[in-house]
Amino acid sequence: MLTEQQRDQLDWEKTDGLMPVIVQHAVSGEVLMLGYMNPAALAQTEQSGKVTFYSRTKQRLWTKGETSGHFLNVVSIAPDCDNDTLLVLANPIGPTCHLGNSSCFASAKHDWHFLFELEQLLASRKTADPESSYTAKLYASGTKRIAQKVGEEGVETALAATVNDRHELTNEASDLVYHLLVLLQDQDLDLSAVIENLRKRHK
Ligand code: AMP
Ligand code: ZN
Ligand code: ZN
Ligand code: ZN
Repeated sequence: MLTEQQRDQLDWEKTDGLMPVIVQHAVSGEVLMLGYMNPAALAQTEQSGKVTFYSRTKQRLWTKGETSGHFLNVVSIAPDCDNDTLLVLANPIGPTCHLGNSSCFASAKHDWHFLFELEQLLASRKTADPESSYTAKLYASGTKRIAQKVGEEGVETALAATVNDRHELTNEASDLVYHLLVLLQDQDLDLSAVIENLRKRHK
């Protein structure tokens, strides 16, 4: 959680005893909600591992999920640069927003986050009935067939670019990315492995 030094440096005076706390999904990075902690709420959060705020509405400590069961399990807590805000990374149990959404903010996901959602769906198709979906049928047709599709879509993508057809290029690039995700899944690899590798090369 926080180091002793980090805890000592928190600027409670500046925040009038209520520190703004941003809660972010530990895996996807989605911003889930914002709340406030007083020192007692922070202590309880660190001790229980469940995000606990000081609720300005209820005027008491409020463990997120205490009635709904939609707890936020803490992965890490870190102060910002001038110690007047906390960032909590957490794994949510169920939707964080009381309206039933994963986040209290409608636009908390980056566009590219959709790729990870799509990837999860494609992974779940590995065990589906081949007659039930195109993706399931693709897995059933074997690695060679999937690899061949990636090759074909790669060529079609390249051709669309050479004739400057931006509409066709968007379509073919989509086909390529979809089939590449399926091929990665077929080989028990995923996007995060590719991103991790690109990041290493970047250094
Ligand atoms: P919970 O803490 O999830 O058991 O919800 C208890 C109550 O807290 C709800 O009925 C709402 O009034 C409030 N609440 C829950 N989640 C949120 C949230 N993300 N933002 C603001 N208020 C919330
Ligand atoms: Zn700050
Ligand atoms: Zn909400
Ligand atoms: Zn195509």
